[in-house]
Amino acid sequence: MYLILLGAPGAGKGTQADILSEEMNLAHIASGDLFRQALERKTELGLLAQSYMEKGELVPDEVTIRMVLERIAHDDCASGCIFDGFPRTLDQARALDEALAAQGKAVDKAMYIEVPEEELLRRLSGRWLCRSCQTPYHAVTSPPQAAGKCDKCGGELYQRPDDEEETVRERLKVFFAQTAPLLDYYERGNRLVKVNGGLGIEEVAKKVIGVLEEAS
Ligand code: AMP
Repeated sequence: MYLILLGAPGAGKGTQADILSEEMNLAHIASGDLFRQALERKTELGLLAQSYMEKGELVPDEVTIRMVLERIAHDDCASGCIFDGFPRTLDQARALDEALAAQGKAVDKAMYIEVPEEELLRRLSGRWLCRSCQTPYHAVTSPPQAAGKCDKCGGELYQRPDDEEETVRERLKVFFAQTAPLLDYYERGNRLVKVNGGLGIEEVAKKVIGVLEEAS
């Protein structure tokens, strides 16, 4: 199964993708993580992406599409994967459809995790991530057992520079302008399913899995 998780920044795409990836034994492909890894290695791609990421803007389609298509050519995505943060524009969605169709494959579902805007701002402002395994925490709603340390792997927790308020507002603006049109695109292809992402992590996960079972 090729599954896309759609949602604004802070909607819980990464958290739900982690749960689903374990549950369904599918690779989790997060374009933001791929850019951050490239930046950590100080590659040309990483440095280019940084200039967009720090402003909350989208990295150009051509670069993003090439990076993601290269990643999904690996064996672990041969029979499916979960996309988190990709596609984010209509051109990216079309490029993904074309690349999969060329191999006789297709995106099965696009799952929209819907969360009110005030809740997104609240979540992003308290977000901490593990530098090693990317597990997300929230200062108020899901703090780690030991301050600054990941419960899962003991890695160091950090706040993303683009979670700063002004950048978050820009990222939300970009989402509503450039990514929200994808809802129509997948709706027209009868591939869109929606889930209320305003609930707790476990409840959302149950609903996501339920919706996928119902749709399959
Ligand atoms: P994320 O971790 O998904 O919130 O992404 C962090 C940042 O990486 C975004 O604000 C963009 O600058 C960049 N990015 C991630 N995915 C994409 C994408 N599909 N298209 C363009 N830029 C992206």
